[in-house]
Amino acid sequence: MIKKVAILGSTGSIGLQTLEVIASQKDYFSVEVLTANQNAALLIQQAKMFHPNVVVIGDESQYPEVAEALQDDGIKVYAGNEAVAQVTEMESIDLVVMAVLGFDALKPVLAALKNKKPLALANKEALVVAGDLIMQAAAKNRVPVIPIDSEHSAVFQCLMGEFDNPVEKVVLTASGGPFLTRSRETFPDITPEEALHHPNWKMGAKTTVDSATLMNKGLEAIEAQWLFGLEVSQIEILIHPQSVIHSLVYFADGSVKALLSDTDMHIPIQFAMSYPQRLKNNFQRLDLAAMGSLSFEKPDIKKFRNLALAFEAMKKGGNIPCILNAANEIAVEAFLEKQLGFMQIPSLIEKCMETIPFVRHPVLEDYIQTDSLCRIKTKEFIKNS
Ligand code: MG
Repeated sequence: MIKKVAILGSTGSIGLQTLEVIASQKDYFSVEVLTANQNAALLIQQAKMFHPNVVVIGDESQYPEVAEALQDDGIKVYAGNEAVAQVTEMESIDLVVMAVLGFDALKPVLAALKNKKPLALANKEALVVAGDLIMQAAAKNRVPVIPIDSEHSAVFQCLMGEFDNPVEKVVLTASGGPFLTRSRETFPDITPEEALHHPNWKMGAKTTVDSATLMNKGLEAIEAQWLFGLEVSQIEILIHPQSVIHSLVYFADGSVKALLSDTDMHIPIQFAMSYPQRLKNNFQRLDLAAMGSLSFEKPDIKKFRNLALAFEAMKKGGNIPCILNAANEIAVEAFLEKQLGFMQIPSLIEKCMETIPFVRHPVLEDYIQTDSLCRIKTKEFIKNS
């Protein structure tokens, strides 16, 4: 049986790689829906190549261009952010790949779960902000949430077949990013160009900067908390520059499971799509002899303050992770536009965590309000800095 896939956010890094997986596994997957926020030209090109039933362009002003380009292809075209969420209602969709970036993914994630669509989740921010609401919706509708993020895919795979066996702790590995060995004194001089140069993984700009600040790992810790129902004290971060071990699970009997593969996102993407099956493919194989040795060390949270802030947010709970996430998104944007120095990113996030009102038990509306308030505040802080 061919799985019909909706890719929400098809023009970003994960979206592109998802389409490459589909192109290489035509006997197993077909494209039912493609959505993009801004990149109409690429969306049109993808639609002509993969022949989905429906495409959605988030930016309504680009609707005429997309509709005209696809009018002879028998593809339905919709526009607007509401349509991105609504499209998950389609009966014909077997799987939703959520590759939308940032907080914008939250509504379509909740819509997909409400519509009982299995979810292959690449987006981090929705879980970071509202992991409680997402996991509740998944449980209520009995829909699996299968992580695409390589660390969480690793943990998910280590837990397969373990049923109720108690987990002692989960260790998320981190490459350490491009500044692992750079001295802290020179951190204020870090440029966007330097931050965008990741040693191991090919990712979008936002995630690459988050990897350089280690916020990526902080967000992943919060993701793991929700996905696997962990206490904060059960989550650890381990620097592992080669990124061969994608994460580890310690069980109550002292046994430790780890998942290894080549550093290629196609592998966890394909697994999330084919779960519980494993499909044969030709992606690069791990060659341990060629690597020679693997190394590990503890993260330096004095140097990478974002990591400490993320754990603090996780401990405080409520809307604090939402604040952390929104402040970080704005701060990273400002850093990329050279309005903000590298070291100011954590300072700004901390300031937001201290000043924006705390909500202990937020509902969806609280998250939406916190998010937009935090974005406004962060921009004000940047302007006045
Ligand atoms: Mg990751």
